[in-house]
Amino acid sequence: MAMKQFKTESKRILDLMVNSIYTHKEIFLRELISNSSDAIDKLYYKALSEGLSGLSREDFKISIRIDKENRLLTVEDNGIGMTKDELDNNLGVIAKSGSLNFKKENEKKEEIDIIGQFGVGFYSAFMVADEVKVLSKAFGSEEAYLWQSKGAEGYTITEDIKENYGTKITLHIKDNTEEENYEEFLEQYRLQSLIKKYSDYIRYPIVMDMERSKKKEGTENEYEKYTEAVTVNSMVPIWKKSKSEVKEEEYNSFYKEKFMDWNDPARVIHTQTEGTATYTALMFIPSKAPYDYYTREYEKGLQLYASGVMIMEKCSDLLPDYYSFVKGLVDSQDLSLNISREMLQHDRQLKLIAGRIEKKITAELKSMLSNDREKYEEFFKAFGLQLKYGMYSDYGTHKDTLKDLVLFYSSSEKKPVTLSEYVKRMKENQKDIYYACGETVEKIALLPQTEAVTEKGFEVLFLTDNVDEFALKTLGKFEEKEFKNISADELDLTTEDEKKENEKLKEENTELLSFIKEALNGKVTSVKLSNRLSKHPVCLSSEGHITMEMEKVLNSMPTEEKIKAQRVLEINPKHEIFHKLQSLFESDKETLEIYADILYSQALLIEGLSIEDPVDYTNKICSIMTK
Ligand code: ADP
Repeated sequence: MAMKQFKTESKRILDLMVNSIYTHKEIFLRELISNSSDAIDKLYYKALSEGLSGLSREDFKISIRIDKENRLLTVEDNGIGMTKDELDNNLGVIAKSGSLNFKKENEKKEEIDIIGQFGVGFYSAFMVADEVKVLSKAFGSEEAYLWQSKGAEGYTITEDIKENYGTKITLHIKDNTEEENYEEFLEQYRLQSLIKKYSDYIRYPIVMDMERSKKKEGTENEYEKYTEAVTVNSMVPIWKKSKSEVKEEEYNSFYKEKFMDWNDPARVIHTQTEGTATYTALMFIPSKAPYDYYTREYEKGLQLYASGVMIMEKCSDLLPDYYSFVKGLVDSQDLSLNISREMLQHDRQLKLIAGRIEKKITAELKSMLSNDREKYEEFFKAFGLQLKYGMYSDYGTHKDTLKDLVLFYSSSEKKPVTLSEYVKRMKENQKDIYYACGETVEKIALLPQTEAVTEKGFEVLFLTDNVDEFALKTLGKFEEKEFKNISADELDLTTEDEKKENEKLKEENTELLSFIKEALNGKVTSVKLSNRLSKHPVCLSSEGHITMEMEKVLNSMPTEEKIKAQRVLEINPKHEIFHKLQSLFESDKETLEIYADILYSQALLIEGLSIEDPVDYTNKICSIMTK
């Protein structure tokens, strides 16, 4: 029988698992128990939906056995089992692929977080065992197979014998080392408390043979040992308990166990509703984004239960895209067990529930925003992007739901603020909401345009995500206030006198400005005297609907056609360079052409854009320097 290699990714994760100093190695047990519980769920659901006889809920169980002498720990279930192919596919490769992002983060602590996020489940067994055997017989099959592995080298699968369907996983527990105690996982009380801690709500009995001792009959103080099968878990699913009965701790550990997160959730939403739709929902808002959240691999959805039986692992119809980060489950007695995916999509009841759930989530986020700002900001760091996409997508259908939930960095508060907070602080003479776009807060702060506006005492929102400007454009207005891009739109910052002054200057310099425009030979659509600059000589702005930032974003997408904003070169008439330009216009037009080009290139650099011809630019600078 040939030894099979693990798929590359699995191998790396295995190495990571085994070799990292993993303080939470105890979680292997909850992982194995959860897998067993899922396997029983699958069989129970099959039995109910296909009307199989001879299977009743009471017969299902998960057994834990300890064989101290041989250092063996066994977890066995009578769930659906695995065929030979399933053993190969499910245990030979990690379920979720495309997930090696974690390699970027090298710190130990980060590694651990990421392991937690993998949902590596089964593999965690290798943290405590130096050999793992999985004996399994698929329900309805005659054959049983044994999968075994000693870790990273690979695994074998051989035919074997097993009486009943289901899966039996046997771990050979590692020897203690100086740093690590593994033997504790052969102690019944330790295991019992782990089951209580992590798996109490599992809805099938977790049975353990507990060794007890009792007084020998007819003796004074002689004891004899006997074993007793004990159901360790309480089996009531947490969402069926009333809210007041459940401690925060319990919600948190349920969440972490079930949804493979290492961090406590930011919020728990637990609702039990009766009426037009009777359902229980238990939802969690994670505090950190899963490693694959912003990838295609990430699947949104809530688990769906019909009267306590899981009928779907990820029901995507229950969550709108902009709340795709929410984890949790819905249990409803109004849904039929036999419902198929296609039927579900059209199910009125399900739509009703989805609508209610969305409102609940919105309300919870709003309450977090007003009662626990710090936590909300953390949350927004992780998922704000999704909310902003939500505002922009579907032609802005959901903008009203989301507009009060989005945050943008404020130039005056030096932290993220809501739009309504901005509006409340607006100056008396301020008509519009000002924003500026750029790669980072630091870079935006350095933009000449920003300086001019903030110097006048106005607050500016700094937009650093690609989607930001699109989201605001979709929103259009907030509380009747328009959004103005300080690098693109006409700003109403000048007094009447200043305006007159500008008009005059413009008239006087019409010829100079059109000369510069000609010299730039189509690179800009116009050259203007700026009223948004204070210390800087030039800046670039745009005309029309496409701003420079939108140009960058749209062109970074893989489309054939490139989009170009209509660029405007703005010159600061108060800057010394302007007088230089004026005098060159009189005396030396050839040099003025060179100046025009250099200033345009500088404006590009300030915007964070690249210069079209850097060699030409340097040559021109040199020619000026040597003059
Ligand atoms: P996950 O549970 O996150 O999918 P695991 O590595 O824990 O990842 O398990 C991989 C797959 O192996 C499971 O999805 C399941 O199909 C199968 N599996 C694991 N344990 C069992 C079991 N006890 N009975 C049946 N199938 C199992």
